[in-house]
Amino acid sequence: MSAVIETHDLTKVYKGISKAQDVSALTNLTIEVNEGEIFGYLGPNGSGKTTTIKLLLGLIFPTAGLMKIMGESNITSPMVRKNIGYLPEGAYYPDFLRGEEILRYYGSLYGMKGANLKRRIDEVLEIVGMTRARNRLIRGYSKGMRQRIGLAQALLSDPGILILDEPTTGLDPVARKEIRDLLIQLRDQGKSLLISSHELLEVELISDRVGILFEGVLQTSGTINELLASREFTINAEAAAPEAIQQVREAGLSPEDSVAGSVVLRVPETMSLYDALEICKSRNMKIVSVAPRRETLEEVFVRVVGSAAKGKEHIEENPK
Ligand code: ADP
Repeated sequence: MSAVIETHDLTKVYKGISKAQDVSALTNLTIEVNEGEIFGYLGPNGSGKTTTIKLLLGLIFPTAGLMKIMGESNITSPMVRKNIGYLPEGAYYPDFLRGEEILRYYGSLYGMKGANLKRRIDEVLEIVGMTRARNRLIRGYSKGMRQRIGLAQALLSDPGILILDEPTTGLDPVARKEIRDLLIQLRDQGKSLLISSHELLEVELISDRVGILFEGVLQTSGTINELLASREFTINAEAAAPEAIQQVREAGLSPEDSVAGSVVLRVPETMSLYDALEICKSRNMKIVSVAPRRETLEEVFVRVVGSAAKGKEHIEENPK
């Protein structure tokens, strides 16, 4: 699989008026976004996501490190520029304009014109499902429709790479689902997507791989399956009397869900599955199934970011 975006030890320090006021927004970031995948770029506010995007777009310069886009280290070359579509967070378009007018304006910035531009506008409106609303004023668009026009704008030059900053933030559940479906459709057509977000469920639903950033440092990255796999198990048991549930809880198993005599028990990483099953059997529980437990992305995020924050507190409390 070839990488369309690569960074190596990418570092950005925003210089303050004195050294004490310098902000290390990104430190030694090494990531890859592969061709035809959705890469979810996650992190709490202030963790360095937008800084990374601005660096990749050539809007600001790195303090150190390397970037390559489609194998090219000159990331501001016209070939690279044409191949990146960008949707900023909460993209604002003047609401006295019509959807199509916005696209005509952006198309002209790419140097497109005449019949070529008209054909491409028709195509991108079709892709984002806005053909019928093309002549309506932006003022009358829902948030989801505005976001679709934003995506249409990002697609104008038919780029291979899309960089989207918080594309589903602020949308209602129906619009979110529609935008998610659209992003998956674009991925399936061979586009590569870097999506920054703090909305974990959204990212879990569509990303092939994710990276979690905290205070400018990449804490972990990998495929969704790699990150969510855990060494824990769950046991689904029946005939679980309330006292039996209480007893297994005291023995170290955590009931996650119990309905009418049936219970789902979480086996902690520190306990062997064999011991856990013995505990259940000794309380006369009937084992229905045993399954590896997947973490949710939210659990992984809280664990990873939580331990990074704790490590930092420790260093600050015990400076050398
Ligand atoms: P995110 O997009 O994850 O919210 P940002 O990349 O915007 O994070 O910010 C990362 C850090 O860099 C934050 O501490 C932010 O305050 C700081 N920062 C961002 N832009 C600038 C700037 N132009 N000058 C100084 N500090 C900045």
